[in-house]
Amino acid sequence: MIPLKETINDIGGLENLKTWFRRKAKVYKNLNKAEAFGVDMPKGVLIAGISGCGKSLTAKAAASLFEVPLLRLDMGRLMGKYVGESEENMRKATSLAEAISPCVLWIDEIEKAFAGIGGTGGGAEVTTRLFGNFLTWMQEKRSPVFVVATANDVTKLPPELLRKGRFDEIFYVGLPKKGERRRIFEIHIQKRRPQDLAAIDLNELATKTEGFSGADIEGVIKDAIESAFADDKDRIQTQDVLVAIRNTHSLSEIMKEDLDRLAKIYETGNFKNASK
Ligand code: ATP
Repeated sequence: MIPLKETINDIGGLENLKTWFRRKAKVYKNLNKAEAFGVDMPKGVLIAGISGCGKSLTAKAAASLFEVPLLRLDMGRLMGKYVGESEENMRKATSLAEAISPCVLWIDEIEKAFAGIGGTGGGAEVTTRLFGNFLTWMQEKRSPVFVVATANDVTKLPPELLRKGRFDEIFYVGLPKKGERRRIFEIHIQKRRPQDLAAIDLNELATKTEGFSGADIEGVIKDAIESAFADDKDRIQTQDVLVAIRNTHSLSEIMKEDLDRLAKIYETGNFKNASK
């Protein structure tokens, strides 16, 4: 069970995803009424996209928005060494989630859990069976366990998982656009140095950070604050942040090819953009 600090207001941008979550939250907070009205029980969401752009943050924010506990399922740790042990572990994990429900069940890096499906050999066969069990559970579950699965690279996911009906929706989270970067700067400065925020030129910072991820931006702010402290300054200013930006190698600089390849897949595939 993961303690919840983050709320939906800690996410900069991703407006489509946030609006979608707000609608599901309304169902979750009024389950009986929604069911009586004929609303289907929400199943869950798959959030795919590059590292550091807020996928984990959204899983946490969803639980706090739904006002339910957040459970994290580590698929790697379900694997046991005895025959049938992994399947039994999966059964126990899903029953536990059902017993605790309503809850959000977060499966991080789901592509890693199901790597090797369809292959030969003992390990691959167990993974394939486990995957089958998981799909059946997703399909049949009636209890309010909302699954948030996150993935960095959907090309490594078995296509069955992406078929319509498994998840309510599949979102793609890309690098933040200018307006989103501005808001992410604002959130992270507000968290650490709220007294300095008014004098900082957020537009300038957003303009200078094309290709930066949310995690890059958070890193820049941490850096700027530490440098200002080390230099005995009494606050941070736009200039301090600009220096930190210049000293940062953004995600898109480091992983340009991978990012371009994934962006193409997401744009042409069956994914909804998390950003407006
Ligand atoms: P990974 O796949 O590497 O786990 P991720 O996409 O799950 O990455 P997060 O762990 O959610 O990324 O993001 C890392 C940190 O970067 C967050 O804790 C948050 O502080 C910051 N961050 C990322 N995206 C945003 C955003 N849209 N708004 C505010 N902060 C963000």
